[in-house]
Amino acid sequence: MNTKELDKKYVLPTYGRGDVEFVSGENATLTDVDGKKYIDFTSGIGVVSVGHANKRVNDAICTQLANITHISNLYHIAPQAKAAQKVVEASGYDMQCFFGNSGAEANEGAIKIARKHGERDGEIKRYKIITLQHSFHGRTITTVKATGQESMHNYFGPFPDGFVYADNIESIEALLDDHTAAVMIELIQGEGGVEPQDKEKVQTLAKLLKEKEIPLIIDEVQTGAYRTGEFTASQVYEIEPEIITLAKGVGGGVPVGIVMTSLKNVLSAGDHGSTFGGNYLSSAAVCEVVSILDELKKSGDLEITSLLFNKALDSFYAQYKEFFTQKVGIGMMCGLRVKDAQTLSAIMTSAKESGVMVLKAGRNTLRFLPPLTITKEEIDEGFKALSTAMSHL
Ligand SMILES: *Cc1c(COP(=O)(O)O)cnc(C)c1O
Repeated sequence: MNTKELDKKYVLPTYGRGDVEFVSGENATLTDVDGKKYIDFTSGIGVVSVGHANKRVNDAICTQLANITHISNLYHIAPQAKAAQKVVEASGYDMQCFFGNSGAEANEGAIKIARKHGERDGEIKRYKIITLQHSFHGRTITTVKATGQESMHNYFGPFPDGFVYADNIESIEALLDDHTAAVMIELIQGEGGVEPQDKEKVQTLAKLLKEKEIPLIIDEVQTGAYRTGEFTASQVYEIEPEIITLAKGVGGGVPVGIVMTSLKNVLSAGDHGSTFGGNYLSSAAVCEVVSILDELKKSGDLEITSLLFNKALDSFYAQYKEFFTQKVGIGMMCGLRVKDAQTLSAIMTSAKESGVMVLKAGRNTLRFLPPLTITKEEIDEGFKALSTAMSHL
């Protein structure tokens, strides 16, 4: 049986998979089973931040594997401590980290911290978590409930209580009460359709929450790890949240989820934990990925790449204006609003045939999350293929 047949027979049908099978990659270039090449404008949904088969990351992982892969969190783990230092220093915030394995798990950790913090004086139980409509926070029972999309709450109940959805940033204030444990938002909604929040409104909210001593959780699972130009989008928005979650790009393809917080004394030994989280393997990857991205940032190359990508996207948008209504995004988390959902799916199919991989977000957004290491040649080739795709519509 080939992969498609094996998948159909043995894997639960939870994904609508595109009909392509990649066997190798190099930076932003992918190769499928037939040897056909594609430019990758997806990084696997913002994960492969330093490109496919990054030699430095692979070497770091292999060196680590030759020594020790896993021991458990019952003992000290040098790469985990170092990964925490790298992540905290890159963020510039006075925080500490907890390591899990996925974005959803990082958000679960964030919610646990907020809720335990909410019980601090024992009198009022602050448990409510306010999130936004069209948000996406994960697929576990709790994070699916935290996700402000009714269609995702059709099954799986009863859900944990206490999740409230605000229509937008301004309407959060009216929902705050004595039982509010935290507000959790994405600064740029990713799955919701590449929707950046207004900086001033976010800053006003952050200030209000500080006054009320309600923690602000920023879900940076997609925006983190330099995707928007700084290590966190919270830095771009110039706010100081109490809790930040990271995953996707921070492991460069190795599963990892991180919750970082300035609320260092909320959780005590035994309150939270993970078998795999922060083991030698994933932590070695995080250390190297963050080192590479720190260097890209410091050298100015990250900004140059972001400018090149956005310039290419701008001229593509200008050239095919009849298909799109708006360009959106920050840094290398960008999108084009397509005039209708049908056209978007035609573009997706045609792009793949022309040799460039792109993503969909929300109902009508063509989403771009290229590796942050993408070269000028790869950018040019990708947009050339995308132009070919448009000419076939
Ligand atoms: C992808 C994503 C998640 C979920 O991450 P998983 O690793 O799939 O659990 C949560 N929040 C945001 C903003 C995401 O983009």
